[in-house]
Amino acid sequence: GARGERRRFDGEGRTADGRRVELLANVANGEDARAAAEAGAEGVGLFRTEVCFLGRTVEPTIDEQVAAYREVLAAFPGRKVVVRTLDAGADKPLPFVTPEAEPNPALGVRGLRTARRHPEVLDRQLTAIARAAAAESADVWVMAPMIATPDEAESFVALCAEHGLGTAGVMIEVPAAALGARWVLAKASFASIGTNDLTQYTMAADREVSDLARLSTAWQPTVLALVGATGSGAALNGRPLGVCGEAAADPVLAPVLVGLGVTSLSMTPRALADVAAVLAATTSEQCEELAFLALQQPTPDAARAAVRSRLPILADLG
Ligand code: PEP
Ligand code: MG
Repeated sequence: GARGERRRFDGEGRTADGRRVELLANVANGEDARAAAEAGAEGVGLFRTEVCFLGRTVEPTIDEQVAAYREVLAAFPGRKVVVRTLDAGADKPLPFVTPEAEPNPALGVRGLRTARRHPEVLDRQLTAIARAAAAESADVWVMAPMIATPDEAESFVALCAEHGLGTAGVMIEVPAAALGARWVLAKASFASIGTNDLTQYTMAADREVSDLARLSTAWQPTVLALVGATGSGAALNGRPLGVCGEAAADPVLAPVLVGLGVTSLSMTPRALADVAAVLAATTSEQCEELAFLALQQPTPDAARAAVRSRLPILADLG
């Protein structure tokens, strides 16, 4: 494609030697989902359902939720759609589930942790997801945010099974879950790494504070090491592993993530074409070499520069 031109990604993500890497989209509503399908996304790797709830003082009814979820599922008939349960708290407070004044909301009752105090909210959400899934043909996967332990994964998966939702997984965005991935993934059907929060918690750097942007990058070799630990834990259990944080949209980082054991990437649709192009030009073996190389570097800049210099395809991208 010509420089700077917006190319549509068409088809399936693969490395140069044919290893499948699903290229999916992050969406928040039906409009996003339709745009993602239009851009050629293979499915949805992260449906942020809390966005349907934001700005509301009371919980949406089950019927309202079913309608909102169906709109997203309808954009991807027969395709995979990963629906994340309510990720309320910290940067996304919701008056009906999150505590009012927490001393440290990012470390507080957020994500799946809100379900202990408000189990009925998660129960109604899973009811709505199951109803939406039954009414549409999309292949619905469900995942919970902010999992830290294998016990949390186990109870979430059991609850999903009670709702007839058989493919239940977890987000890996807490360092403890990354380090314990072999045990967490033994309890879950799949995982998706949220590099935004994983970076925040690894670097102890609030993702909302722009002064800390220097620290807040998934190119931190220590963050990549946690991605690698998660990749090993997923492989040990034979589980699919996605990345759905902003890092998945970085075409330079994509082969590194694949080399660390990631099997799908979910991103803003406009990044799909460049990520697909870099993967198509890189073999799985090269991905593993790039991952090894990145992990050897002391700083994010050094890691990025080292990988960049070995990806001549980047010169062809707009
Ligand atoms: C993440 O933490 O990387 C993620 C994908 O979730 P969110 O950005 O919605 O917290
Ligand atoms: Mg997150």
